[in-house]
Amino acid sequence: MQLVFATNNANKLKEVQALIPEHIKLLSLKDINCLEDIPETQDTIEGNALQKAAYVKTHYGYDCFADDTGLEVNALDGAPGVYAARYAGPQRAASDNMALLLENLKPHTDRTAQFKTVIALSLQGQTHQFTGLCKGEITTSLQGDKGFGYDPIFKPHGFETTFAEMELVQKNTIGHRGKATAQLIAFLNKIS
Ligand code: IMP
Repeated sequence: MQLVFATNNANKLKEVQALIPEHIKLLSLKDINCLEDIPETQDTIEGNALQKAAYVKTHYGYDCFADDTGLEVNALDGAPGVYAARYAGPQRAASDNMALLLENLKPHTDRTAQFKTVIALSLQGQTHQFTGLCKGEITTSLQGDKGFGYDPIFKPHGFETTFAEMELVQKNTIGHRGKATAQLIAFLNKIS
């Protein structure tokens, strides 16, 4: 079986590639010559994941899956949520996004949050969704230099380190994307 993973994010590709078994051939957007930005204009995480998977299927004809991830902070009523990438502006800079989040959380004692990943799979004319959650808290400063995005300020529950201080294999075991990917793999194994 071959599947396109509809992402231009090298970090996501690395995380998912580490989990996908060898009998599933993972193609990147570059492999199928899809070089444009795939629209993600929906106002839900689910909607964006479905939109990205449907775009590749419609325009390139490949079975594929796409991931969309949001960071939901309880004291901020779920913000940045689906708008996590552009939280501090259209430049989509992780350092700006983290700085703004730390600033906005200053008046709050509740620092609990969760990452949510939805993977949408478009396979043989049908779509399927898999959701992975990871609960934790937002630290008061940046810790660690691994990972990407908000990893330096997210400490998963039960751990003393942020995602950015963990090895990839550990983040994948407990993290939102790893959990959603595990469900995707279980589904693909069941039907093949
Ligand atoms: P998207 O899924 O690429 O739209 O990601 C939304 C935002 O969340 C971007 O700013 C990403 O950098 C960030 N993000 C996505 N996944 C992760 C993750 O696993 N850790 C930290 N930040 C993430």
